[in-house]
Amino acid sequence: MPDTMSNPKHDRDVLIVGGGIAGLSCALELTKQQISCRIFEASDRIGGRVQTDEVQGFLLDRGFQVFLTAYPEAARVLDYAALELCSFEPGALIHIGGRFHRLSDPWRRPQHLFATALSAAASLSDKLRIGSFRKSTTQPSLSELFHHPETKTLELLRQRGFSEVIIEKFFRPFLGGVFLDRELATSSRMCEFVFRMFSTGSAAIPKAGMKAIPEQLANQLPAETIVCNQSVTDVSGTSLTFSDGNRADGRAIVVATDAPAARRLFDDDYPASGQSVTCLYFAADQAPIKEPILLLNGDPTGPINNLCVPTLLSPNFAPNEKHLISVTVLGEHPDEESLIRDVLHQAHAWFPGEIESWSHLKSYSIPYALPTMNPPALSPVAKAAHRNGPHFICGDHCDTASINGAMASGRRAAEAVQQWISQK
Ligand SMILES: Cc1cc2nc3c(=O)[nH]c(=O)nc-3n(C[C@H](O)[C@H](O)[C@H](O)COP(=O)(O)OP(=O)(O)OC[C@H]3O[C@@H](n4cnc5c(N)ncnc54)[C@H](O)[C@@H]3O)c2cc1C
Repeated sequence: MPDTMSNPKHDRDVLIVGGGIAGLSCALELTKQQISCRIFEASDRIGGRVQTDEVQGFLLDRGFQVFLTAYPEAARVLDYAALELCSFEPGALIHIGGRFHRLSDPWRRPQHLFATALSAAASLSDKLRIGSFRKSTTQPSLSELFHHPETKTLELLRQRGFSEVIIEKFFRPFLGGVFLDRELATSSRMCEFVFRMFSTGSAAIPKAGMKAIPEQLANQLPAETIVCNQSVTDVSGTSLTFSDGNRADGRAIVVATDAPAARRLFDDDYPASGQSVTCLYFAADQAPIKEPILLLNGDPTGPINNLCVPTLLSPNFAPNEKHLISVTVLGEHPDEESLIRDVLHQAHAWFPGEIESWSHLKSYSIPYALPTMNPPALSPVAKAAHRNGPHFICGDHCDTASINGAMASGRRAAEAVQQWISQK
């Protein structure tokens, strides 16, 4: 085992750039292997794209996100009970032509079978196809699933015989909201993975907001592993240079940033395109619906893609019996005022007489929320963590664009570092 103390040049064996889910997962695995490491995070806190802010007593995730309990890597690493996960009802209520239609999973919610069967979002044959699609994504092993031919999600859905109605009314807003890509150009492997995750587990949010996930990872690390407010400007050999001109040396360097930052640090043509999103939060006196379920826009007019009421999952998300409304609009919208107006206009049509008590709390415009996952982005799913020499890479751009992908990629980078060190 390397001994950093015997080599004063090394503060720690492994220097990790970025304290998001991938960097934290990498540090956790290195720590388990008894390899010393330090995370340098540019911002003032860990978590990267998984953050929760407290605003006027409301808990606002920085962009609406859900944690899928079936995520295999997360299930290995996280203590779900301690996260106090609050689950959504399976399925969705889809707004089509003036009213909401339920599309639920008949295997998990048989009491809703009748409403689902009558839903305008899908024909009976579509509903049967959902059943066979579910089977084809849940029966093979994950590794078999990731060897299915890769095409665009839209192509896959058409190949599976789904009607244009269910594609437009359900898959486009639902998967469009998950991939932040209403074109459904995202890899079919991502689609099959996500479908499997939704079919075999719950979509949930921790009671304290999404930030509880990175916090749980960070709490398992030895003290002084994480240094915040340290922006790395250069990676050269085994050294990092920071924006204040200081340097740190290690034996190996793991770049665990988002793809655009990795591209800048490695100064090469690393693919770095991403999907953007805007999330708006409103405070309300009443919840406009009764159950914790995702609402989708099945109509061709926007701007809302999806909406939910986190306080129906847990009252913890708002103070004084108020309700929190979370609205997701795909893309970036520089004119915030007109976006708020348009969102409220659409919400008024969805919930007549309800929105008078709504007051805008905050909007988050996120230019890079997810890496673009167009094919052949997931061929293979797991990208090599070792670049060259002492340089390693991880992040959601090295796996499925998700919390699970970031965790798996961070762990793999740690394993690759460990193997490399042991061979030296
Ligand atoms: C709005 C939104 C919705 C999402 N929805 C879901 C969802 O429902 N389910 C799901 O599973 N996933 C979802 N995701 C994706 C998920 O959050 C990400 O895949 C995951 O958090 C990525 O983690 P990461 O560690 O790879 O990258 P990041 O979280 O981007 O972490 C990288 C870290 O590196 C730091 N950094 C960058 N440059 C430097 C530098 N030069 N020096 C030092 N530090 C640096 C950054 O500050 C950051 O903390 C969503 C993301 C967003 C934004």
